[in-house]
Amino acid sequence: MSRIGIPSREFEFSEELDLLVVGGGVAGTVAAVTGARLGLRTGLVEEMPFLGGMSTGGCVGTFCGFYMKETGGELTPLVGGLPLEIARVLAERGDVIGPIPFKDTAVLPYVPWGVKRLFEELVRAESSLRLRLHTKLTDAVVAGGELRGVVAHTRGGPIVLRARAYLDATGDAALSRLAGVETLQGETLQYPSMMFTMHNVDVGQALTAIGELPKILEKHYESDNLPRKSGNLIPTGRHGEIIVALSRIEFEGRPVDACEEQELTWAELEGRAQALRLSEFLRREVPGFADAYLSDSAPRLGVRETRKVVGEYVLREEDVLGLRKFKDGIGRAAWPIERHLAGGETSWKFLDPGTWYTIPYGALVPRGLSNLLVAGRCVSAESAAFASVRVIGPCMLEGQAAAFAARRMRDDDVASADVDVDRLRSELTAAGVPL
Ligand SMILES: Cc1cc2nc3c(=O)[nH]c(=O)nc-3n(C[C@H](O)[C@H](O)[C@H](O)COP(=O)(O)OP(=O)(O)OC[C@H]3O[C@@H](n4cnc5c(N)ncnc54)[C@H](O)[C@@H]3O)c2cc1C
Repeated sequence: MSRIGIPSREFEFSEELDLLVVGGGVAGTVAAVTGARLGLRTGLVEEMPFLGGMSTGGCVGTFCGFYMKETGGELTPLVGGLPLEIARVLAERGDVIGPIPFKDTAVLPYVPWGVKRLFEELVRAESSLRLRLHTKLTDAVVAGGELRGVVAHTRGGPIVLRARAYLDATGDAALSRLAGVETLQGETLQYPSMMFTMHNVDVGQALTAIGELPKILEKHYESDNLPRKSGNLIPTGRHGEIIVALSRIEFEGRPVDACEEQELTWAELEGRAQALRLSEFLRREVPGFADAYLSDSAPRLGVRETRKVVGEYVLREEDVLGLRKFKDGIGRAAWPIERHLAGGETSWKFLDPGTWYTIPYGALVPRGLSNLLVAGRCVSAESAAFASVRVIGPCMLEGQAAAFAARRMRDDDVASADVDVDRLRSELTAAGVPL
């Protein structure tokens, strides 16, 4: 292949910030709003035209990791601070239902539009937070073991931003990779899915049929070329509306790697084709769907796993199943190890009722750069531990903790790895986070 050089250019910094958050999914949005509430001059950069990442763009359908089931069956919150506030406001508006017991845990089904709207309200309420949508991070400048600035492409051309602390909340470790931080992928990625919404469903009938769903899927798996042997039908609480979690996309017999442009393009197209086929299957075979129609697919493919940062601590399966409570724990997590596997299978390893592990601050500190933090889908975790910690509750807790850490970095003039974790934990406790 022949080569061409791209001329380098010099830029003035467009903005100087205390905290720059790259990626406006659940982790990044919670981090940015928390940062601004703590008095940090905060920037939030998001390549899509709206906030929420997989929660709105991928329409994943439920908030997991917000509650755990006690031995007596009652449900106790695992999250506190802004994540709990978000759940409460959504519930007041009828945009969240539950918590609803689900297997040995609990979920909060939500309306994606409600989350999108609330995130925008939270951001707009903060005068020290500047949001840039349609803005894609494309480069990082590193020198002397720290990030000196990042380049982002806007509709008006490139801009350069500088901050005291940077948070990689891109889900794909995009900022960390551009900055040369080591990432891990694991032996196999989890499969992505295209979520879709059905309208005019007889929801009452569909919910009574949910218990039969695994049998129906198993029976038709081969004959109807179904992608999964189990799945979920998620009522949003709106009349006749169900979000469908039945898709799974493979590429040449393995999970799609959504960091590869050709595989991602193929998966988006295949995902929508799969949504159509699955909606026809539901109409034909599942009670309550006879008069329903496919309202729309999610705006983007639901990507579970791509690249994770290698941090000061890499969370392991033993930590999750061993219910480890870290000295630098910044939040509780108790979602099972849920893996979306080949052959249409999903495996679950549950924690005992009433038990949890904590997420260590060290998993939010990428190795090698003094002013970078990470939160959410690209947190430092091996694949099995990631299969538990990847859900929305822990992602939000990590974003919240990263913002508190960024304040310590500024006020104490320390590197991300040198943040006083005892002080960080007492500040999180004071903010209502159970530790
Ligand atoms: C199909 C599916 C079903 C799931 N089901 C559930 C469920 O029921 N409950 C649950 O709790 N969790 C579920 N999950 C997991 C959960 O949704 C995600 O792990 C979580 O939402 C990740 O949040 P995040 O903010 O870390 O990352 P993301 O949601 O991936 O957000 C990252 C953001 O960064 C932006 N970004 C990326 N690169 C750049 C760049 N270069 N420049 C600018 N912006 C960039 C992206 O556009 C995106 O908005 C599911 C996931 C999938 C895929």
